[in-house]
Order: sequence, then C-alpha cells, then structure tokens
Amino acid sequence: MTVREPSDMNIIAPIASATGKPALVDPFHRAITYLRVSVTDRCDFRCVYCMAEDMEFLPKRDLLTLEELDRLSSAFIERGVRRLRLTGGEPLVRKNVMYLIRSLSRHLASGKLDELTLTTNGSQLARFAQELADCGVKRLNVSLDTLDSDKFRQITRWGDLSKVLAGIDAAQAAGIKVKLNAVALKNFNEGELAFMMRWAHDRGMDMTVIETMPMGEIDEDRTDRYLPLTLVRRRLEDQFTLRDIPYKTGGPARYVEIAETGGRLGFITPMTHNFCESCNRVRMTCTGTLYMCLGQEDAADLRSVLRGSEGDEALHRAIDEAIGRKPKGHDFVIDRATQRPAVSRHMSVTGG
Ligand code: SAM
Repeated sequence: MTVREPSDMNIIAPIASATGKPALVDPFHRAITYLRVSVTDRCDFRCVYCMAEDMEFLPKRDLLTLEELDRLSSAFIERGVRRLRLTGGEPLVRKNVMYLIRSLSRHLASGKLDELTLTTNGSQLARFAQELADCGVKRLNVSLDTLDSDKFRQITRWGDLSKVLAGIDAAQAAGIKVKLNAVALKNFNEGELAFMMRWAHDRGMDMTVIETMPMGEIDEDRTDRYLPLTLVRRRLEDQFTLRDIPYKTGGPARYVEIAETGGRLGFITPMTHNFCESCNRVRMTCTGTLYMCLGQEDAADLRSVLRGSEGDEALHRAIDEAIGRKPKGHDFVIDRATQRPAVSRHMSVTGG
C-alpha cells in the first residue's frame, strides 16, 4: 500500500471556510470534506455480490429519524463537509426520504454545501427525478451491472431493468447528470463492459467500473466473481484509445478519456490499487454509526451522543474524537485462502 506520510501532504487550513468552525482534519493531514450517509439498510434488490438473499434488516427503532439524519449531517457540514452523498441500502426506498433531501438542500442554498447527490439503483428514479432536481441535485450515480434484462434479473435477484432505464431517462429529462457505476464481475459482465461504456457515452453519461470488495457474508465465493480492473483496462485498450486525465468528482475514481467516444471512464480499484492516500471521506450508517474507513471495522457511535444532548457540543467532540482515529488505509484481500470477508458488514450497511 502506498500512502504518503503526513510530512508529504499539503498543510490544510484548520478552519472550515463557509462556517468559521474548526475543520475536520485527520491524523494524516487529510481534510474530511465528503460525507456519505446511508439512510436505510433496506434495498429492493438483492445483488448477489452485495447481499445474501435472506438478509436480516435493522428494526425500525434502531434507525435514526429523518430529523436526526439531518442534524448529524448538518453537524458535519458545519465542520467543513462540502459534499454529501446519500446512499443505502437503496436511499429512495426510505419512507419520506424527499423530506430529508429537501431539508438538506438548504445547505446548497446557503453555499455551505457544494453538492448533494445520491447513489441509487434507479428503480424508483422515475418517481423522484424531478423532485430531486428541484432540490438542487445535479448529479446521480446509478448502479447498473448489465444491460441484458435476463442477466439483470439474475444479478439483482429481484430487479426489473426497464424500471431502471425509465429512471435514467427521467433523471436526464429533469436535467440531472447521470453516471453509471458497474461492478466488474468475472463470467458475468466482463464481455459487456465495452458495450455498456459505448451505450453510456452515446447517452452523454460517464461510466465507472468498480472492483468487487470482500464485504459481508454472501451466498457465493467472491473469488469466482473478482475481476481486476488492470485486466479490464488492458482489454479495453485492445479496442479503444484510453488517455489518463486528471478529472475528479470528489470520489476515488481515476478517469480516462476514450478517444473513439469522447466520453469518460472511471476506474475504482480498492483491490489492485487502493486510493487511501487521498481519502477525504467518512461514512455514516442509518443508525448513526460513523465508519472512518470503508475497509476497517473501527467505528464511532454518534447516535447515543446525538440522543444524549439537545445541543451539538458533545456531538462535535465525538466527531473530533472519531476523525482523530481515521486510519491510514485499508488492505482488502480476495483469494481462496482468505475465506472470511475483510469486513463483516455488507456494503449495504455503509453504502457505495
Ligand atoms: N442501492 C444503491 C445502489 O444500488 O447504488 C446504493 C447502495 S449500493 C450498496 C452502492 C454500490 O455498491 C452499488 O454500485 C453496488 O453495486 C456496490 N457494491 C455492493 N457490494 C459491493 C461489493 N462487495 N464490492 C464492490 N461494490 C459493491
């Protein structure tokens, strides 16, 4: 793992410019400016590499209310978080989620937040696209691993591709920029990725491919699905001209431009090349548990602090303490010898 030492990093201003409050800076001098919030652990799909079929979900009493999710997110925004991504589970299946999104959009209006966005499976997008656009959502990531409806049903177990495509149409019609996220899966979509990329680029969408990560027990052996993106890239290079570009969206993807389509393709490579040195993110679950790293178990319980006091001083102290424990990085391994997942929680707990 190559992680730069603190002395190599830029010194970061300790004050959040939009609020004047102390900014969140971790022990490795990385400014924490990006919060991902999982608003529910429930999902209307059961993607085979993500969840087991018979998942047990959290009882309702354990979930933060929408008001509590707003209060927690707003505390992070006070401390310099400029990007907020709602995820899940499937964020658009959380009851009244638009109430939360509308409320959080006040931070866009005030200029404290640069971006409010979501990662979604697209199943509910046709219903919500216009309202999301009205709330200032300008960009969405839609997860889609195949354009073949039978394969789509197979990988999601329950999904209907036509609904997702209608959702993408609705988002684009509402003026929202859509990026496709596809997990690269051996013996599943490896032969389709070039086609999907062309399809995305023809429709004015960027696409990102992602390596599957060992998170949570699923019903199959992950080694059977793991496809390193070094190989995906090499295969694409047989057909297309890829040019590395410095384009960034705040996340971990490294982008190339495809000369033949004029579109962008991102690579998210937690396995073959982790991206920890530039990590600016923390993740909050729908129970108010803060994970400082996607690939580590350490977490801070913010729910009890939140519920323990009306003011936010204790909450800010707890956030500072948690950020002070943010680790340097993760080390995921997928091989047949390593039978247990690197982290026990499923991706649906912390979201993508
Ligand atoms: N339901 C939303 C969606 O489908 O985008 C948000 C949550 S989902 C967990 C977020 C992303 O994580 C999806 O793109 C999904 O494909 C990806 N994902 C799930 N499990 C993964 C794993 N083990 N490795 C890599 N990506 C994973």
